[in-house]
Amino acid sequence: MNSHSDWSAVVADIARTSGQSFTLHKVVPVSGGSINTAYRLDGDGRQYFVKINAADRLEMFAAEADGLAEIAAASAMRVPEALVYGADGTNAWLVCEYIAFGARQHRSEEWMGQQLAEMHRHTAAQFGWHRDNTIGATLQRNDRTDNWLEFWREKRLGFQLGLLLERGMGDRLATDVEALGEAMPLFFSGYTPGPSLLHGDLWGGNHGYDEQGQPVIFDPAVYYGDREADLAMTELFGGFGPDFYAAYQATWPLDAGYKQRRMLYNLYHIMNHANLFGGGYLHQAEGMTAQLLAELRQGLSDRHPEKL
Ligand code: ADP
Repeated sequence: MNSHSDWSAVVADIARTSGQSFTLHKVVPVSGGSINTAYRLDGDGRQYFVKINAADRLEMFAAEADGLAEIAAASAMRVPEALVYGADGTNAWLVCEYIAFGARQHRSEEWMGQQLAEMHRHTAAQFGWHRDNTIGATLQRNDRTDNWLEFWREKRLGFQLGLLLERGMGDRLATDVEALGEAMPLFFSGYTPGPSLLHGDLWGGNHGYDEQGQPVIFDPAVYYGDREADLAMTELFGGFGPDFYAAYQATWPLDAGYKQRRMLYNLYHIMNHANLFGGGYLHQAEGMTAQLLAELRQGLSDRHPEKL
């Protein structure tokens, strides 16, 4: 799709779900996405944000719409309202409220920290979610369970490892990731995570500030899990400042062991990047896994020399 394509099916969806006629006046490309192409649709004094992908990605948009609704229902953070998703023989689309992003104001990061902590206070009975979704373009399995460590080992690290192996990329990583999976409980001694509502893909490029300076998060990969996983990802590629972390800590302090688990959580995203983009990410995942194992050996020799 582009500015000159036939948008009539999307326009009809908008008119039907908004209950108002919609005459398309202008289609403006929106840059910044990594998976989909995005546009702003203008007409009748209204604007909509539309993401486009191939028709077979309709489920991806359905899950994204569900994720946006799940976050909206927690009433802690602003997310774009998902209006409708659909597909024809060629394209799939997700239509959302268009948000005009503004400049970060001096309290914006503080609000982001507070509101994210409040969102994380929204919990479920189990880890996982009622449906699978995608992380980037990769399937993300969310089978519900009471066992967070098993979830992280199998549905996150193990799943990505399986994809890398299918692509003939994970042979060197496999032994170390399996060793890490077995030793994982050592990272969690004295800490019991709860199933918090997570954005799931909270790198800097998935947040912004509206014209009032209020934080907005978008493009989520929602599930219920350890809130440290969201925090870890904010640190992976940067984009969040000291006021954000200070406000998060002031609202709901993190466990002292977070720093030891941070890399374990970010390993998932780096493995996913290796699957999506290849290149140096596989090497980075190998380095992270080796470092985590080295830390475990070091910690074990300090705390439990008899176990080595
Ligand atoms: P992708 O799924 O391809 O990664 P995103 O959801 O990240 O796409 O959206 C691409 C860009 O569009 C974002 O970087 C952001 O700047 C902008 N954007 C996202 N959601 C909205 C929205 N509801 N209104 C206006 N702009 C948006």
